Amino acid sequence: MTSVVDRLGRPLETLRVSITDRCNFRCVYCMPKEVFGRDHAFLDRKELLSFEEIARVVGVFASLGVKRVRITGGEPLVRKDVERLVELLAAIPAVDLALTTNGALLTAKADALAAAGLDRVTVSLDSVDDAQFRALNDVDFPVERVLEGIDAAASAGLPVKVNAVVKRGVNDEGIVALAERFRGTGHVLRFIEYMDVGSTNGWRLDDVVSADEIVARIGARWPLEPVGAARGDETALRFRYRDGGGEIGVIASVTKPFCRGCSRARLSAEGRLYTCLFALRGHDLRAPLRSGGTDEEIADTLRDVWTRRTDRYSELRTSETAALPKVEMSYIGG
Ligand code: SAM
Repeated sequence: MTSVVDRLGRPLETLRVSITDRCNFRCVYCMPKEVFGRDHAFLDRKELLSFEEIARVVGVFASLGVKRVRITGGEPLVRKDVERLVELLAAIPAVDLALTTNGALLTAKADALAAAGLDRVTVSLDSVDDAQFRALNDVDFPVERVLEGIDAAASAGLPVKVNAVVKRGVNDEGIVALAERFRGTGHVLRFIEYMDVGSTNGWRLDDVVSADEIVARIGARWPLEPVGAARGDETALRFRYRDGGGEIGVIASVTKPFCRGCSRARLSAEGRLYTCLFALRGHDLRAPLRSGGTDEEIADTLRDVWTRRTDRYSELRTSETAALPKVEMSYIGG
């Protein structure tokens, strides 16, 4: 298979698939209640790609060289029978299948997801302090239940990563406590610099705690050493505890952008293809899917969109671009 390469020489290798724009949390920096309240117009059921449609498109992406697929949302576990989708995607050969979740429903779903063929799971968890976590998710959800979900996933045999977004003045005082909680558990903890995604979060550079600062704060308590990237398109800067306590990573999309290695396409729940997390518009794949387009025609469209791709938003970011309208994080899924 010859890989499809964009204008900056980047191959199409990774696909993130959002399967719903709904979420059971209202994280204050992502889906604030003032914007995503009772009268918010979420996508209608018939607007969402069906599991069969998603599996078909993912199969076409795989035929073009996509090797890693991540199911996301909204919150993917709120979509009914998500394990049925996992089963369909797990049947596509040579694809590593992951899912990103807030963990609220993971205790109930972990066994079914593992049995359906999921390869790994990432749990978003921004604080291990119960009061702070309840305030952040803004639906008073206890941290203990997410921690139980992480244990359930591990018991089901799923490798677990934990992702924590850090926003200065909101949860940065909890960085070391997060590190402490996951040291020695075998779960990789990754911190994520707070980004100017969507148009609802009023992002400012001052909100960002840099990767250097995060690593310095943790390294001051438990000395760290860098670990080389396992892959060229790896998003995380990786470090290991010198005492053998495991590994942490930092996704430094703001202070050390990694556009040059970005091999990621994104598919929205309604079947729009985005070639950058910071884009405003996507390319509609649902219309051809629903009007008799063949797999070959869909492959041609994907090739066409990808070979024209020039996005490198994070390398061009300024305080002016931060104010540009962009797709919502809860719609595109990270
Ligand atoms: N609900 C799932 C979850 O919680 O992982 C999947 C979708 S959620 C939008 C994906 C990730 O995006 C979460 O880890 C969330 O914290 C992160 N996120 C949302 N807004 C962000 C921002 N402004 N900067 C960095 N990460 C953000």
